[in-house]
Amino acid sequence: MDEEWFRKDYERAVDLMNFVRRHGTMSQLEADFISEVLQRFNRLLDTRGPNEAKRSIDVRRSRSSVDGLATQPSYNPGEMDYQLQRFINVRDDGTSESTTPHEQRLERFRKLVHAVSFSLRARKAARNRKAASASEPQSEEVFNLLRFINSWHDFNVFALSTVSGGNELELTATAVFHEHNLFEIFSLDVTKTVNYFHAVSKHYRKNPYHNSVHATDVLQSTHVLITSGLGEFLSDLEKLAVLLAAMVHDIGHLGYNNPFLVDTKHDLALRYNDQSVNEHYHACLAFQIMHEDPSCDLTSSLTENQSKMLRKIVVDIVLKTDMAVHFTMLNSFTEYLDNYGANVEEWDEEGRTLARAMIVHTADLTNVSRPTHLATQWGTRVVDEMWRQGDEEKRIGKALSPLCDRETTSVASAQVGFSNFIVKPLLEQVGRVMDVGFLNSGVDAYVAHYEAELAKEQATDKK
Ligand SMILES: [Zn+2]
Repeated sequence: MDEEWFRKDYERAVDLMNFVRRHGTMSQLEADFISEVLQRFNRLLDTRGPNEAKRSIDVRRSRSSVDGLATQPSYNPGEMDYQLQRFINVRDDGTSESTTPHEQRLERFRKLVHAVSFSLRARKAARNRKAASASEPQSEEVFNLLRFINSWHDFNVFALSTVSGGNELELTATAVFHEHNLFEIFSLDVTKTVNYFHAVSKHYRKNPYHNSVHATDVLQSTHVLITSGLGEFLSDLEKLAVLLAAMVHDIGHLGYNNPFLVDTKHDLALRYNDQSVNEHYHACLAFQIMHEDPSCDLTSSLTENQSKMLRKIVVDIVLKTDMAVHFTMLNSFTEYLDNYGANVEEWDEEGRTLARAMIVHTADLTNVSRPTHLATQWGTRVVDEMWRQGDEEKRIGKALSPLCDRETTSVASAQVGFSNFIVKPLLEQVGRVMDVGFLNSGVDAYVAHYEAELAKEQATDKK
């Protein structure tokens, strides 16, 4: 790079940013120019490191312009926001020289979280023509909640959702990808990756249960299961696929189960010939997003073979989240454990495929093992969604599906049954691969809670 030219372009960009800050408008041409300079700056940062990058420019002079620009109502979202935030953060680089590697990693994490929250808020501000939401404290709270990204007990997805203004999925995904070093390993384009996370999040509907908070919960559960021993056999590419599958596994869910869609001859049931209708739709949507918009193509840095493999694995896992195949899957999993032992490395390809799907399927069913104050929120939500389906069935004069009648089904009885007959037998087999003590104690507390509720309900019934 020609340093002298870079400096000139850079100064022009800073002047332009100052102008934009004062007048609040920016043409596409100007936005493209600033964006290009910032990208060149990022390349400088990558090749020469923060100190040399700092020497080439006047960081102090630019900081206020960038900060100001970021809160402009006419701020142009797109590729620029992430570049901008990285640029703002350079001022802090080099100050952590004396800290431990752990602290440095935490600091990098903090910056990443701030960058992504910033980018999301800037996007929202641009859409709403309102800059007020782009204030700093919010991302600090987000960061404090995301520090528990590796914890089963302390990660509070509901709090994260509130504090981040509904951006929990993209923030958690960024944190989880960071934990597994996926950005570095696959040289993922951060902007495209975050765009993809954002698009996925927006495609989740506002159902009581099957929404982006559930997707976030399953994603973080999958992450904890992987790191607790259930994913020891996974290659990096498989890890990427499993986490992606967790994130998209219910995308676009309409709030109705498969039998309902089939019975009502819903468009989706016709499209997928009544076969795992919801799951086919989720898998389809997940890939449609990246194919239809190149700025959301998270796979752009992967080789063709890696992309093919990733797609194959994600589709397979998502299709296997259909509860209709639960018992078949659990039986096969048990057989593999009986015949080949607990080390999945020694299983054949079919077994390996099954073991990958079991991780996300387990994560999808174990919110009952979270601390009771969180788990019960899921319990209430899932039953609420079923009741809504029941209401719709009543409205169209259809027989009510099991557990969907709000007159006769209680949350407590539904949850005790689900925990005892589905979750506990599942954990028994999963427990042959990893230590499931923390999951068992959670589900035990959950069952105890709802058994007490059930006893109360029965006592009032008798009166
Ligand atoms: Zn799910």
